[in-house]
Amino acid sequence: HALSPNDAPDSWLRISNISKHFGAFKALHDINLNIRKGEFVCLLGPSGCGKTTLLRIIAGLEVQDSGSLFMGSSEIGNLPPAKRNYGIVFQSYALFPNLTVAQNIGYALRQSRSHKTQRVNELLDLIDLNGIENRYPAELSGGQQQRVALARALATSPSLLLLDEPLSALDAKVRERLRQELRRLQQKLGVTTIMVTHDQDEAMSIADTVVVMSKGQIEQIGSPEQIYRDPASHFVADFVGRANWLPLCRSAHGVATLAGLPIKVELPPGADKASLFCRPEDVKIETHWHAGTDSMMAIVDRVDFHGGLRRASLSLCVDRAMSIFADVGPNDAGYATLEPGRRVPVSLPAHKVRVFAVAS
Ligand code: ATP
Repeated sequence: HALSPNDAPDSWLRISNISKHFGAFKALHDINLNIRKGEFVCLLGPSGCGKTTLLRIIAGLEVQDSGSLFMGSSEIGNLPPAKRNYGIVFQSYALFPNLTVAQNIGYALRQSRSHKTQRVNELLDLIDLNGIENRYPAELSGGQQQRVALARALATSPSLLLLDEPLSALDAKVRERLRQELRRLQQKLGVTTIMVTHDQDEAMSIADTVVVMSKGQIEQIGSPEQIYRDPASHFVADFVGRANWLPLCRSAHGVATLAGLPIKVELPPGADKASLFCRPEDVKIETHWHAGTDSMMAIVDRVDFHGGLRRASLSLCVDRAMSIFADVGPNDAGYATLEPGRRVPVSLPAHKVRVFAVAS
């Protein structure tokens, strides 16, 4: 059903029930997303999940089969791209090779010569490209080229900035620096931004809101913290960050069991099998085994150093095929005593674990 503009009062761009097929292939199913003014949104998901298709529909470069796009209360889904005043940067958005940096940036400006020069200078300042304005694209590094592309996209003061993997062709160091620069610039200008990426670190470090997509559908919309701490699905928990998974079964008495032992978690209603999820930093190494709790004995198989953390790989004594990772910091119990071959009690804090049904 089409939402009325009042359904999400603080939304500025509203994507409502968008679907898209390519032949018989369903690239997007019923996408709903509300974006606030000034928000930085990342569309995150594996290759082929439909993120670029969604961005192209927002840009007007692709037409949806059904559904609508609203800006405020106006429907914009049928406007041609040129009428939308969006700035767009693609991964390989080639700059015009025969134009200088300054000419590239000013390309879309329809102003008097003096106004244009002033605006181009502002943008050169903004994005720290002063001194190279007379160079041609072939004389720039990859990072500089993407900054020029960004300045060009921002030249007309767009209301919405659309970025499709703008940093993915750059090497790791340049990418990280540009990521921070992009965030700083976005906040300074307050321009609402939607960026497509398959890089979870990028999405988690830059976005206000992350939209996790899989197979043409939205799996979860939330802040980076929510997505990481409280994943809404098995897919999200596994795709973002590092995850431990342990198989749960329902016993004859109806309670959840792990390797045949009862464990105090709720199984999803009706499910006889489920997966227990826990982040490595939430696995606790105990100093003593406590009867009557969910602590279990485990054997340390190996210990790796990760900066300030020790990452232990453990297997459960009840079933050595069940293994988990524990990230242990210098102030955590067990840090000093972790070594391969040791038996240690571990526990999984109930408020940190999540349980997801397994399709049977
Ligand atoms: P990537 O990160 O690889 O770019 P993506 O999540 O951006 O992936 P899309 O480019 O949106 O994915 O594509 C979603 C699906 O739709 C893919 O399976 C793709 O092959 C298919 N697809 C996209 N464009 C077309 C097209 N013009 N014709 C046919 N199929 C298409």
